[in-house]
Amino acid sequence: MVQAVVGANWGDEGKGKITDMLAEKADIVVRFQGGANAGHTIVNNYGKFALHTLPSGVFYSHITNVIGNGVALNIPLVVKEVQEIVDRGVPMPKLLISDRAQIVMSYHILFDQCEEERLGGKSFGSTKSGIAPFYADKFSKIGFQVSELFHEELLADKVQRICDLKNPILEHLYHKPALTPEALLEELHTYRDMVKPFVADTAAFLYNAVKEGKIVLLEGQLGSLKDPDHGIYPMVTSSSTLAGYGAIGAGIPPYEIKRVVTVSKAYSSAVGAGAFVSEIFGDEADELRRRGGDGGEFGATTGRPRRMGWFDCVASKYGCRLQGATDVAFTVLDVLGYLDEIPVCVGYEIDGEVTTDFPTTALLEKAKPVYETLPGWKCEIRGIKKYEDLPENCRKYIEFVEKHIGFPITMISNGPGREDIIYRDVK
Ligand code: GDP
Repeated sequence: MVQAVVGANWGDEGKGKITDMLAEKADIVVRFQGGANAGHTIVNNYGKFALHTLPSGVFYSHITNVIGNGVALNIPLVVKEVQEIVDRGVPMPKLLISDRAQIVMSYHILFDQCEEERLGGKSFGSTKSGIAPFYADKFSKIGFQVSELFHEELLADKVQRICDLKNPILEHLYHKPALTPEALLEELHTYRDMVKPFVADTAAFLYNAVKEGKIVLLEGQLGSLKDPDHGIYPMVTSSSTLAGYGAIGAGIPPYEIKRVVTVSKAYSSAVGAGAFVSEIFGDEADELRRRGGDGGEFGATTGRPRRMGWFDCVASKYGCRLQGATDVAFTVLDVLGYLDEIPVCVGYEIDGEVTTDFPTTALLEKAKPVYETLPGWKCEIRGIKKYEDLPENCRKYIEFVEKHIGFPITMISNGPGREDIIYRDVK
């Protein structure tokens, strides 16, 4: 049985925690898209970890972790991440890397940096991890697939092509030193030796595992609104963040994905540029940022302060719909316990008309939030295990959101730990 754990919003919804929690009863955890440009924060009995490329199952010895073909694979970073968790006492994880995954090269990172510099104030707010240039090359068919590392004759020819193509831009647009085929070959040889112990035909492995009845978790990065097709284009990421893409990025039949756990945070946060309708500013935002998540809302990869906002029903309804949510996991609800009143964005006003449908980007830029304000519950809810034991105003908040998004909230996360979860039967 395959389940996906994906984000309804802009990312940072707490997917890592939910995956780590569901992994207890799973056999395999798969990353199917994205790269080391975002992070999952996980708190467990080994400590607090920020994972960037490793699947969130690496803390369990019964789990096989898979980096699927859809991922932007930064080989030295993956190897470093494995080393870092092992150094902190976690047993060596079982890790398989797809032979069809493609490799983030040093020049992808260089191009990402150069382009953000060139754009200056009009930049995308990229994390400069090379993700956009990587995917551009993949679809221009000039990327390096892991399998190719083991075919020397192929590499020699390809590095020359890369130099011919990239050097004019590097020299004339960015005024940087040219790439050399020798340096690229050396880089590829280093990657080959690093990745070799992990390489496998992961799609075949997963197909057989599903046939044997194993439980597979597909772990998404970022959220629906960062999807290149359905998100806030062009302020999106470069690979699909949707559960449906899990079938492609992991190489499994789409009909095997039976459950789509869509994670949505009880308030909003976003990183990078782009319209963010329910954004808040000043002291109000600073306080929510400081109290948010587990130790503040700052990027797990970059440390950048996240943009903050109230819960957005319009964006979340859309985000859940695109994911095909079977379950919504509503996270970080404990953080809101300090507020007397909690505004919730229930509509967008665009050119004088109110809508609850999420628009395309040009219209989104004009949207103004329509708020309803709910009373707060003014107490600590961490430690509560049963839905009925939550304060009445807290339950009302959950049920209000559920009604507006139109998808069932079956899990409520009231703390960063694995055990901080309330299951809810939704009839
Ligand atoms: P992800 O990328 O979707 O996994 O999200 P992040 O890891 O960037 O952000 C989630 C943050 O919130 C992490 O610091 C988690 O430890 C923390 N977190 C997750 N669920 C909860 C929760 O229910 N309550 C609190 N207080 N923190 C949580």
